[in-house]
Amino acid sequence: KVAVDLVDEGMIDEKEAVCRVEPKQLDALLHPTFDAEALKKAQAVGKGLAASPGAACGKVVFTAEDAKEWHARGEKVVLVRLETSPEDIEGMQVSEGILTVRGGMTSHAAVVARGMGTCCVSGCGDIVVDYENKKFSLAGKDYHEGDWISLDGSTGSIYGEAIPTVPADPGSGYFGRLMGWADKYRQLMVYTNADTPRDAKQGRAFGAQGIGLCRTEHMFFEETRIKAMREMIVADNTEDRKKALAKIMPYQQGDFEGLYEAMEGCPVVIRFLDPPLHEFLPTKEEDIAEIAEEMNITVERLHEVIASLHEFNPMMGHRGCRLAVSYPEIAEMQTTAVINAAINVQKKHPDWKMVPEIMIPLVGEVKELKYVKDVVTATADKIIKDAGIDMKYEVGTMIEIPRAALTADEIATEAEFFSFGTNDLTQMTFGFSRDDAGKFLSYYYEKKIYESDPFAHLDQKGVGKLVKMAAELGRKTRPSIHLGICGEHGGDPTSVEFCHKVGLNYVSCSPYRVPIARLAAAQAAIKNPR
Ligand code: PEP
Ligand code: MG
Repeated sequence: KVAVDLVDEGMIDEKEAVCRVEPKQLDALLHPTFDAEALKKAQAVGKGLAASPGAACGKVVFTAEDAKEWHARGEKVVLVRLETSPEDIEGMQVSEGILTVRGGMTSHAAVVARGMGTCCVSGCGDIVVDYENKKFSLAGKDYHEGDWISLDGSTGSIYGEAIPTVPADPGSGYFGRLMGWADKYRQLMVYTNADTPRDAKQGRAFGAQGIGLCRTEHMFFEETRIKAMREMIVADNTEDRKKALAKIMPYQQGDFEGLYEAMEGCPVVIRFLDPPLHEFLPTKEEDIAEIAEEMNITVERLHEVIASLHEFNPMMGHRGCRLAVSYPEIAEMQTTAVINAAINVQKKHPDWKMVPEIMIPLVGEVKELKYVKDVVTATADKIIKDAGIDMKYEVGTMIEIPRAALTADEIATEAEFFSFGTNDLTQMTFGFSRDDAGKFLSYYYEKKIYESDPFAHLDQKGVGKLVKMAAELGRKTRPSIHLGICGEHGGDPTSVEFCHKVGLNYVSCSPYRVPIARLAAAQAAIKNPR
């Protein structure tokens, strides 16, 4: 309001107004905050990482199922977990806030909560959780299921009491005018990371010009789908795997149609299956027994499958495009779903120009990209031909392995676009686990070895050098290549400025960070015009 008023009074111009607002301040307009008076009287009892902004107040629950149950009967809950996994998504969705003992700024809880716009404090190692007795202890006190706690996801503070919250208020009119000026001056496009039509609509409402990353695996966890997914994983031959994939296909296609509809013809980048397969398998004994029965195999056989999928370093294991290299039928199914969805939506909306974009994750060698791309193009070309429709599509890759950045000139011979996956690129460049680094990084800040979390703010010296180099190499091979970023840094103001400076075309971030990225991109362009 002050910035807009100053422009109306002729004291400053629009560019100055855009530059005077700290992008991170927008968080306070887009998320609930604590009632200021009540907060003054409250005393924090612990601190974790400020993983997803906003204020939350609710009763403690320890499982995603309890979160859903309590929510259904009208309770406000805060979900407390050692860490979250994709199985917890529905419980996370209904929680006011999420508190985890383990996990850094790009851990599952942090990334998913940010995507949902839900408050999250992650990596509070001082907490001792006792799931069995449904309690946790922190700073010498026990908190039981049903006790009130409050979280500040913007500072990482944890309060052992209820502090009333005030809903988000983007301030009628002023916000829109300031953001309008930001859009006028920025040169970077701003996309959103979105896995569901709900996220996509939220991102679009906040001004996203496309989807830069749809993580397709998040669509596999609903009850009916996870069964088919598990059948696919347990299958020990291609035919059975294909049968299971055929069951998943219509769901995927429906999901993609939903995303395309929500984005009204704007670009949508769909990334193929990325996580290690064991993430989809049950962990609890009772679930294993139930699933074995459902799948008509013995508990022992299911245990064997689970054991065979065990990996010492799953993040460096059988994941990303390696899955499609081993099982090309997965890429075939996902391509079929993407292209059919695009054709259906194109028929419904002849005025939209549908150009599906398929993104292959975790590529480190041009030949593996070419292998998967060949599967994609063979499948897509046939469907398009059979449909008798004229549709273009693009196949690109994530650059998230240092080797891909180093050989980006070769990778660009096959990739029509690059999206920098700086979560994994940071993990693999530093050799820091993105899930565990929070545990020791505080020593590094204390000792002034590192100033900030490289998973939150892009390390421009090291990881940034790889990004810059890969962008240049990619453009040398293919001048028309689109370059973007979809790691969590895409919503961080200093990282956005870096992306502007190295000449990327777009940044993609979680919906609630889209306005921050728009403002940061405008400030970068005003300060450093291209
Ligand atoms: C990344 O690695 O930066 C990325 C966007 O992919 P994910 O976080 O899903 O690994
Ligand atoms: Mg990644």
